[in-house]
Amino acid sequence: KYHEQLVELKGNIRVLCRVKPVLKEDQHEEGQSVVVTTDPNNESALSVMNKGKGRTFELDKVFHPQATQEEVFQEIEPLVTSCIDGYHVCIFAYGQTGSGKTYTMEGSVENPGINQRALKHLFNEIEDRKDMWSYTVNVSSVEIYNEVLRDLLSKEGEKLDIKINPDGTGQLHVPGLRVTEVKGFQHIKKILAKARRNRITFGTQMNQHSSRSHALLCITVYGTDLAGSKTTGETTALRVACYYRLNLVDLAGSERVWKSGAEGERLKEAQNINRSLLALGDVIQALRGNQTHVPFRNSRLTYLLQDSLGKGNKTAMVVQVSALESNVGETLCSLKFAQKVC
Ligand code: ADP
Ligand code: MG
Repeated sequence: KYHEQLVELKGNIRVLCRVKPVLKEDQHEEGQSVVVTTDPNNESALSVMNKGKGRTFELDKVFHPQATQEEVFQEIEPLVTSCIDGYHVCIFAYGQTGSGKTYTMEGSVENPGINQRALKHLFNEIEDRKDMWSYTVNVSSVEIYNEVLRDLLSKEGEKLDIKINPDGTGQLHVPGLRVTEVKGFQHIKKILAKARRNRITFGTQMNQHSSRSHALLCITVYGTDLAGSKTTGETTALRVACYYRLNLVDLAGSERVWKSGAEGERLKEAQNINRSLLALGDVIQALRGNQTHVPFRNSRLTYLLQDSLGKGNKTAMVVQVSALESNVGETLCSLKFAQKVC
């Protein structure tokens, strides 16, 4: 049975690092040097030079600046497959603003990122298994800004709350969140474009907050075992039904804004981002360390994802870094975060 097949992965939490290539528009300062180097002989190490001192970091996998969207997805693909094999999966992009999080998750029209590739891969897998299993794929998309949830698939962007399901299972749900059944690949593109447009619109309504909000694409796969029903001769009710979640998260920028003397709303924003990223780090560290208490409730983000992040599920964190000297402080912070959860 597919659901009993285990996918070989190095542990349930993988920490990957992607180094952003140096683009022309990033080089506004004269003589900016590149301080982050990858090692062609060791794909899990990278080195950072800071004030004449070198430091090496070990991660599960490091993508060099020229790595393509396809190469990045190849590392993520087994996790997406494992979503149909019976795991809840979370994939995060972490890093300072401008380090390539949205490029990795959303990508561009010519070079789509993980979101579109993951959905495409899911549909291919579903097609391959259609003789034995029947699947339905639903998606929803939310943004978390200043600890407030908004529906990215609804133009009005209603504010939403996380509630405990009244069915007694203790599971969480978000009343009023729009859920769309995905009909096929062309439909996926439309849904993703809608979420992107709404994120931009909400952003301009509130002074460019897109780099300060988390954007989540939540995919739910419902499976029904057709073979099971056939062998038992059942014709009406199908025998096995299950569901699994795939959460794709473009996190808020991890830069330490409060250090630059932010005040008022900006400071509150920075504190909320800091709190939720710290909470995420603590949750992953607790899960990786097999701790009995996992502090899910310290932020909306970890609270919303707690069903998918728990034991027996799979997580990947793509830590994005800039290679340039001017960003070395944030790069070191992001890599320390990666090391903490690694
Ligand atoms: P973030 O979401 O972390 O703020 P973006 O994904 O918006 O950063 O990236 C900033 C800019 O750099 C964008 O114009 C994006 O297209 C570009 N960019 C990021 N990563 C790459 C890459 N690997 N290859 C080419 N362009 C990239
Ligand atoms: Mg972004």
